[in-house]
Amino acid sequence: MSLLKNCRVCGSTDLIEVINLGRQPWCNDFLKKSEIGKEKFYPLILVICNKCKISQLNFTVKKEIMFSDHTYLSGITKSLSSHFKNLRDEIIIKFSVNEKKKILDLGSNDGTFLKHFKDIGWKVLGIEPAKRVCKIANKNNIPTLNKFFNFETSQEIKEKFDFINASGVFFHLEELHSFTEGVKNLLDVNGVFIVQFLYMKSIIKNVAFDQIYHEHLLYYNLSTLNKLLIKYDLEIFDARLHEIHGGQMTAYISHKGKRKKSKKLKNYQSIEKLEKVNDIKTYFNFRDQINKLKKINQEFINKSIEKKKIIYGMGAPAKGNTLLNYFGFSKKEIPKLVELNPLRRNLYSPGTHIPIKMEKEIKKLPDIYYVLAWNFKKEILKNNKKLIRNGVKFYFPIDI
Ligand SMILES: [Zn+2]
Repeated sequence: MSLLKNCRVCGSTDLIEVINLGRQPWCNDFLKKSEIGKEKFYPLILVICNKCKISQLNFTVKKEIMFSDHTYLSGITKSLSSHFKNLRDEIIIKFSVNEKKKILDLGSNDGTFLKHFKDIGWKVLGIEPAKRVCKIANKNNIPTLNKFFNFETSQEIKEKFDFINASGVFFHLEELHSFTEGVKNLLDVNGVFIVQFLYMKSIIKNVAFDQIYHEHLLYYNLSTLNKLLIKYDLEIFDARLHEIHGGQMTAYISHKGKRKKSKKLKNYQSIEKLEKVNDIKTYFNFRDQINKLKKINQEFINKSIEKKKIIYGMGAPAKGNTLLNYFGFSKKEIPKLVELNPLRRNLYSPGTHIPIKMEKEIKKLPDIYYVLAWNFKKEILKNNKKLIRNGVKFYFPIDI
């Protein structure tokens, strides 16, 4: 098992360990009963490159292990689907689009995002490495290729796109450079590449350390993402921060020099500078905040158990496994995780081995729902008003 020696972006060997979450299983490796205890554990350590300041994991779980059979479906959550619809409308207004365009979605999942464009007559194409998820997309009439996107794939596609979208995949990339080169290749000369990524500045502000997991190899701020793009003659010209997932940044990117940089972007960039978001000290402070949060959560769970309260997890998101494993909770403390995604039915959480049950299968309510899907706080509180009135407590381990 070899650890990263060179920065994934600039190649520097000057990497500094900032956060060590121990050895953890791959967080999307939800287990069948027969697989319990057989899951592999890998180091989960965040390092920062002292040269280009991009933070990254120092261990790579192979992409074929992580993305060929994942079970995440973006269509499951209403707020995500409506976020995608808003993003479409934002694109149409922002770029004054009044004709039918071509859009390519990288890591297109079940086609939830592209569907909103197909609905208004655009030509759409998705690329999704997970077989089952890709099948669902094609069944829903969203043309989707079952592949990993890289430069080679881009050469097979052979057409240019007005818009290329990458929602939440840009930090997964083992083939970071080949992927970016592929985008450069398929982006129309006046095209716009839209990248949505977890904004490291927000992750740190919210102490949302559970977003650190093996699928997220890289953690960007706008300033650090630009360092990668510049290598391929691409650059950010506009950006917008959304509240979803506790702080998701949308960066609008064009070929270098093609578009005027927005005021908003300049504003974000100067705040990044002012707040020293890429400083090592900022990361060490983040580490201290994580440990503080761990203590608070352990105290809450232990006290609740002393009072004989029954605690179930709400949601079984991938990131919840970072949290459960790092906080050291198991089925002793949290005997069930309650989910909506049917692909996770009757599976067990990796590392902690907590069984996953569907919401409708829960006959006896817990006293406390420990909300692992904390980023859907509003939706969860709204959908569970009746339970809350009946005395079920909803606890948010990361509360923003
Ligand atoms: Zn670097």
